[in-house]
Parts: sequence; structure tokens; C-alpha cells
Amino acid sequence: MNALEYAAVYGLRVSEKKAHEIGRLARKYGIAMSMHAAYYISLVSKDLAVRKRSRERLVKALRFAPLMEVKRIVFHSGGYSGHSPQEAYAAVRDALIDVWETAGRESGDAILMPEIAGKIRAFGSVEELISLSQEVDHVLPTIDWAHLYARSQGKICDRPQFLQVLEAFEKALGKEFTDNMHFHVSGITFTERGEKEHRPLGGRWGPDILPLMDIVREIGYKPTFISETPPPLTGALYAKFLLHELERIK
Ligand SMILES: [Zn+2]
Repeated sequence: MNALEYAAVYGLRVSEKKAHEIGRLARKYGIAMSMHAAYYISLVSKDLAVRKRSRERLVKALRFAPLMEVKRIVFHSGGYSGHSPQEAYAAVRDALIDVWETAGRESGDAILMPEIAGKIRAFGSVEELISLSQEVDHVLPTIDWAHLYARSQGKICDRPQFLQVLEAFEKALGKEFTDNMHFHVSGITFTERGEKEHRPLGGRWGPDILPLMDIVREIGYKPTFISETPPPLTGALYAKFLLHELERIK
């Protein structure tokens, strides 16, 4: 329980005073801070005003990051909005370059961490995030294992598949990736379009995170795990318990 993802998912509504107070508490208690930016970010929207507002939300997140001790800004890039994946890729890339040019210098050492998307028609496949991280400085992936499970229609669910994903990121991004591993975990339901709803861990919903924990322990990766279960605390306790037990019995 030493990491927290500040949920600015309906917009960053915190005052500067409160942001400073959050930062002070994070330092005092040694909490690794990240921030989940607004759900309605849509960097590929057909509406250019929406794209602009989306970039502004990321700019604001970068500017507030040092006040709050936030080192990682996690966000959903948005749907393809009828564009081809190639067009969407170019739009996201250009948007993130623009965001960084605007506010990167003010961000302390915070970086931008787009998530693997749970919906099939949303930007954020493994391949897209690898290319984006290679091409744009200060961008690294957030691996949401539940999203990946939903996006792959339940295929990415076991040790060989988890290993393959981690190896692909590590091979392409190296130490930058392994030093900044950021994972979201939860159960999830999905349809043929991908993600439906986040669910608790350890129940009847996939993905089972035990093989993932086993890989992490075995290789010695040091990811930050953020639980996105309803409610988040039970998932966090469950994940921590698994990892602790694996350490104990190894
Ligand atoms: Zn997530």
C-alpha cells in the first residue's frame, strides 16, 4: 500500500493549495504517486475542439504533477473515431509531442503513460504503445492487464502470453520500460467489442493474475500495481497478498 493513482477521471479539479498538500503527504508517507487523467480525453476525436481540450487536460496534468509528487500521468488516448489505426496513431503521436512541448519543462520528472485500451476500436494496442514509446520521448506504456485480456477476447490470460507481452515491451524499450513498469489489475467482463466492466480480482472473472505475479517475482521486476477493482482497496490487498505469499514460499 505504498502507491496511489490520484483519480482525476472527471477532470483535474484540485486547487493548487490542495495539490501542494497532497504532495506533502505523499512525501511524508513515502507514497509513489501517479495520476489517472480524465476519461473523456480523446486525442483522435473528429471534433478538433475536443482534441484541443484533451491536449489541454494533459498539459494541466503535467503542470500539477510536481505539486502532487506525481511521476506518471496515465490516460486513455481515446477511440479511433472512424479513423484508420494509422491515422489515429499519427494523431496521438502529434498530440503527445505537442503536449510535451507545451508543458514538459514544467512537469518535474513526470512522464506520459498511455494505457492499453480495453475496447477494440480504441487506440492502445501493445504494438501501438511500443511504437509510440519508441517514437515520442517521455512516453511509456501503462499495461492494463484486464484491458489487454478484454481486447484480446480473453486470449492473453496465462503465463506464456503474459511473458510474451512483457518480453515484447522489454525488447523494444529496454531499461526505460523495466524502470517504469506501471500495471493496472482487475477482473473484467467483455463483449466482441472488448471491455465491458471492471470486476473484482480472485473471483470468477479473468484474467487470473497469479501467473503474472509469479513472473514478476521470478524475474525480479519492480512494477507498480494499481488496482482498478470495485472497490479498489480489496483488489490491492488481494494482489499484495498473492505477491507476498509467492515470496514467502519460493
Ligand atoms: Zn486501467
